[in-house]
Amino acid sequence: MTEAVAETVPANISDADWAAAARTIRELAAEGRVLLICHVNPDGDALGSMLGFALGLRRLGVRRMQATFPGPFEIPEPFTALPGLDLLVPEEEAYADPDLVLVFDVASESRLGALVDRVGTAGATVVLDHHASNTGFGGVNLVDATAAATSVVAEELLRRLDVPLDVEIAECLYVALATDTGSFRFDMTTPRVHEMAARLIATGLRPGEISRRIFDSRPFGAMKLFADVLGRAQLDPTAAAGHGMVWTYATLEDLDRHGQRPYVLDALIDPVRAVAEVDVAVVVKQTGDAEWAVSMRSKGAVDVSAVAVALGGGGHRLAAGFTGYGTPGDVVFSVRQQLAAHLIA
Ligand code: 5GP
Ligand code: MN
Repeated sequence: MTEAVAETVPANISDADWAAAARTIRELAAEGRVLLICHVNPDGDALGSMLGFALGLRRLGVRRMQATFPGPFEIPEPFTALPGLDLLVPEEEAYADPDLVLVFDVASESRLGALVDRVGTAGATVVLDHHASNTGFGGVNLVDATAAATSVVAEELLRRLDVPLDVEIAECLYVALATDTGSFRFDMTTPRVHEMAARLIATGLRPGEISRRIFDSRPFGAMKLFADVLGRAQLDPTAAAGHGMVWTYATLEDLDRHGQRPYVLDALIDPVRAVAEVDVAVVVKQTGDAEWAVSMRSKGAVDVSAVAVALGGGGHRLAAGFTGYGTPGDVVFSVRQQLAAHLIA
């Protein structure tokens, strides 16, 4: 194998695991019922890697197949044009005892909600993921923490199953890759990532149109909502041993007032993390009475994945989250208390 080829193959997954995954899929998918699952509140990598892989299985001739995710059956507007959406079913309709379960972008069973029982009822479970915090809950675990997105793992497994890329598969995998690299801006945007993007774009997809849809399009009401929420952001320069933190919060009432759905807030972390004076950015988003989904980002001084794990969540070193309880102030206080203990040396 040449150096150039080695560079395109995900690291950290053994040949034995790749072979076990391919063998399991070949044995069970042709005649059996296949259930593909991604994480709750699915993002571009979760949906894109899952649907891209599902379309690949369809090309292999797999007929009995469903894709799903836990929680409310709502596809964020930016992803409503993804190929393969016809394969999606609400969790209530998902096979109760599938022959094969394939799990995408899920670091731990807590991200599977009520679908977690399928890991037990399925004939076999193969996990495709790229979170360092992955707990290895599958029968076969294809987890590469150096992969920029789960779709990197999905593309390689499709290659090993001899499924050629077509423009629909490629669009799904591209949305996933673009989402998790912040549109090819983050440090994990390696030569391997650009080589994969080149293979995907070569199928004929339209990167400009896809980027506009997933990054640069939102309702007027969402812009007004962002204005309110950004307007109440607070700077905390002494947090994280002086590296500093900026934080804000959004309530269900904020969403209501502007007639917006919760997923529009996923994009809000980007302007917040742009604040130059500090390392850590935190957005606290209300999901229930005293319940909040917390997004954290670091520029490199703090391991926010370790902070999230300490608070019951998970993620990547520089992008992580957890579920917080109480008031936004309580939640931010709990984060602040963890920051100095998780500095990156
Ligand atoms: P985001 O802030 O974009 O929602 O999530 C950033 C990263 O943290 C993603 O990799 C996501 O999977 C992870 N993450 C976010 N919230 C949670 C959570 O509640 N639990 C776990 N385990 N991971 C989370
Ligand atoms: Mn991901």
